[in-house]
Amino acid sequence: MKLEELEFKIDYFELDEKFYQKLDATPLNNPHLISYSKSACDLIDLDYEECETPKFVKFINGELVLKGSVPYSMVYAGHQFGYFVPQLGDGRAINLGAVNNWHLQTKGSGLTRYSRQGDGRAVLRSSIREYIMSEHMHALGIPTTRALALIGSTHPVYRSYGETETGAVVLRMSPSWVRIGTFEFFARGKNGEENLKNLAEYVIKESYPHLIGIENRYAKMYSELVDKTAKLMAQWMAYGFMHGVMNTDNMSMAGLTIDYGPYAFMDYFEKHNICNHTDVEGRYSYNNQPHIAKWNLEVLAYNLGKISDFAKLMRYLKNFESLHQKEYLSIMNNRLGLDENLSGDSNLDLIVELLGALESARCDYNCFFYELTKLENLDSLSSILDMCVFREPMQKWFDEYKKIVQAENRSFENRKIQMKKANPKFVIKNYMLQEAIQNAENGDFELTNELLNIAQNPFDEHKDYERYAKPTPVEHANLQLSCSS
Ligand code: AMP
Ligand code: MG
Repeated sequence: MKLEELEFKIDYFELDEKFYQKLDATPLNNPHLISYSKSACDLIDLDYEECETPKFVKFINGELVLKGSVPYSMVYAGHQFGYFVPQLGDGRAINLGAVNNWHLQTKGSGLTRYSRQGDGRAVLRSSIREYIMSEHMHALGIPTTRALALIGSTHPVYRSYGETETGAVVLRMSPSWVRIGTFEFFARGKNGEENLKNLAEYVIKESYPHLIGIENRYAKMYSELVDKTAKLMAQWMAYGFMHGVMNTDNMSMAGLTIDYGPYAFMDYFEKHNICNHTDVEGRYSYNNQPHIAKWNLEVLAYNLGKISDFAKLMRYLKNFESLHQKEYLSIMNNRLGLDENLSGDSNLDLIVELLGALESARCDYNCFFYELTKLENLDSLSSILDMCVFREPMQKWFDEYKKIVQAENRSFENRKIQMKKANPKFVIKNYMLQEAIQNAENGDFELTNELLNIAQNPFDEHKDYERYAKPTPVEHANLQLSCSS
């Protein structure tokens, strides 16, 4: 389909206009295309060649508003690091409308009514990070918003003192941009209940259409979101993903990973790792993520409790841990090539022990699973032990692992097939992104595009990039990033 043939649909304007602002983007100077994602194009049936035309850059830069598209920003509130902030919103993101139920949104498009002290811009480095990681998470099977394209510019943007960076825009796509924080905003004021009901109906239509018109639908929507979020957390934890800023305004009502900031995929395993430099207390540390997700869902329950049975919502939330654990165990069993039906609960102990062993051994988390998948037998472990700073804890763990593998008595090939599906060769770490960013800041976007290709096909070989399948070089491992983006 040609760009002009895209059909935009906007249902958000059914809500009261105090919940959004219709506005135009403020274009960047000298915009240019850096990259586009073919697999994201497929979601809206957009011809790939269209992305290589000047009008495509104009479209992302807000200079070309397509037929049926009415740009708007959404308001929301949120708990940031545990404290309620009554008004946040799309301070730099502009929605263009939905195509094929994918809401297109440009991030970094200038000031909006909700910009507060911000400048409405996004710098190149953070835009590359969001663009690549959105597509990577999808390729790993982890629910996420998507990214269709990335443009750069010569537009100066100031973040840290004395440094000038340049502005960029990511064209993001999501089945929904509604956040828990959106409910927190709607719940306030004199028509709170009515506004909440309208928003809940909107979210049901957008993300839970099978619930339209049925009894107790708000509570059902809540329970489905609890399920989705518990599973999402299990995927993050099993793959060592840390979001970094799990404020309620960054929690999706559709159970997706949204708003990529100072995130990281764990390098060497560290249970209490904190990837966000600003998170002094470790509220959003690796190990805290499921607890925080539950805390955020409790905030939602307080708000939805105004239009449905609060006690019932809280009763359902009690299932969070067991749902989370079940999903986590299932993924970890796949990653270890074990069959939970054969070994049952003993696998949980083995997994907990593995995490301890990985931490004591200082072993790269995802590389461990990739090397485990490649082992020819369990008697020659050198490829794994050589990755460990301290070998003994890992050696000990393998003694336990061998016992369970032997007791399960499944064929080696079977186990390998199971593991291959769960253990990608490549997991995109921050140091890889940093290399692509450094080149991009010097005007060379080849590595950004190569990394996108690896990110989108992490189970493939990519012979030229063997080094990215190896443990993170120690000088780059487990570093923190700041929120500034
Ligand atoms: P985040 O935690 O990065 O998702 O952002 C938190 C809030 O700050 C949201 O309301 C954003 O829209 C807003 N924000 C972040 N960066 C900027 C910026 N450069 N200009 C305007 N608003 C921003
Ligand atoms: Mg956000």
